[in-house]
This record gives sequence, structure tokens and C-alpha cells, in this order.
Amino acid sequence: MEQKNNVGSNRIDLPEEAINKMINKAAWLLEEGRVVKISRYMYYVIGKKNRHIVRYENDKFVCTCKGYKEKKLCSHVMAVLALTEIKDADNFLAERVSIRLQRELRSFGFR
Ligand SMILES: [Zn+2]
Repeated sequence: MEQKNNVGSNRIDLPEEAINKMINKAAWLLEEGRVVKISRYMYYVIGKKNRHIVRYENDKFVCTCKGYKEKKLCSHVMAVLALTEIKDADNFLAERVSIRLQRELRSFGFR
């Protein structure tokens, strides 16, 4: 079953299952502090294997990943779109990234 929605100017025109998968992945990226804000128009996303840049271009968010090229939407863009919906997004991100940094530093033996 196809469902058609709009999220800002990013059109969602994919099967529900694919969208749900992306939403879960996007939530994971945010929770794990894997989304770093470079500017209002650019975000750095640290995926499991690859790093991606999500940027605002021609009224929508675009991503450098392969999935975006194929589907015109990906979990990275979804994560950034979700952020634009969160009220204190900057604080949320800073907190998540800080937790992640602390965890990574601990893995090097720092406290
Ligand atoms: Zn992407």
C-alpha cells in the first residue's frame, strides 16, 4: 500500500513499511547523538558505517547517502526533519552528543 504525505517540502511517497524503518533509524540516530548540527542549513550525520551531510537546498533537505539518491528520502533527512519539530532542538542535540562523547572517551580509558 502506498501512502502519500508531506513533511515540509520533503515529499514522502514510499511504502509504509519503508517509512517506519526510516523513522526507527532516525530516532536511533538522534538518541545516540549521531546528528551534529553544523549550521541551520547543514547537519553532519554519523551512521553505523558511513558519515553523511544533510543540507537544506532548494526548499528541502537533501543527503549525500546512496539511499537518498534512490528514494529521495532517508533516515538521515528524517532525523533532521524530526529535529526541526523538536522545541529545544539545540539543547537536545548538545545533550545527546555530550553523552555520546563521554561514552567514547570512557572507551579510551578517560573519565
Ligand atoms: Zn541519507
